[in-house]
Amino acid sequence: MRNKTFNLIPVSFLNSFHYCKHQVYLAGVLGIKPHYSVNRRIIKGTLVHRIIRKTCENMGDLIKDIRLAYTISKKEDRTVWGREVPVVGKTLYGIVDELWISPDGALVIEYKPSIRAYKGHKCQVMGYCFALMESLNVSLNSFEIRGKIVSWEYSSVLWEKRLSKTIIRKIKKTVAEIFDILNEKTPSNRVKSGLCSTCSYHYYCSYRGLE
Ligand code: SF4
Repeated sequence: MRNKTFNLIPVSFLNSFHYCKHQVYLAGVLGIKPHYSVNRRIIKGTLVHRIIRKTCENMGDLIKDIRLAYTISKKEDRTVWGREVPVVGKTLYGIVDELWISPDGALVIEYKPSIRAYKGHKCQVMGYCFALMESLNVSLNSFEIRGKIVSWEYSSVLWEKRLSKTIIRKIKKTVAEIFDILNEKTPSNRVKSGLCSTCSYHYYCSYRGLE
């Protein structure tokens, strides 16, 4: 019998949802951890994140508390930034790769080992922006929040977007669908084809090989 009701989920589930809804079920309901060795890009990405973290450890302006960072930013009228910054909204939480906060706006940067921005990555970045907005309790009319995806391999910007009310509506809809999967109100459909071989849950998924 189920004894857990979900009401807060990691932002990364937005990415999983767009990759394959069954990933959400495997990770959230069955508690399976991804097995990154099936995807060389993810292994490389994890290593790069470790290097970035180590490099930035001793830099002076790093922020970890976004509300404090926002307060400092307004008080001193300047931009503060940090890497690996936790954000917690009302339904989404996660760790932002890089965050810049100014008195009138914020920029969320996600580093990806890709040559293009995928739908799931974009949704993930907007999810961080949404969680940030809720956490800071700011209005988009006076506080501009932008999300950006950067390819660490090519140091190029793959995608950038401003958080809007339309995007928030879409995120809320996706989050509601994820909750339905996690709370087992709807079944999680597997992907139609082609993605299982590079899926981090490949080893544990009963659907693998059926594609
Ligand atoms: S192995 Fe295929 S069906 Fe299973 S979670 Fe991954 S992508 Fe989805």
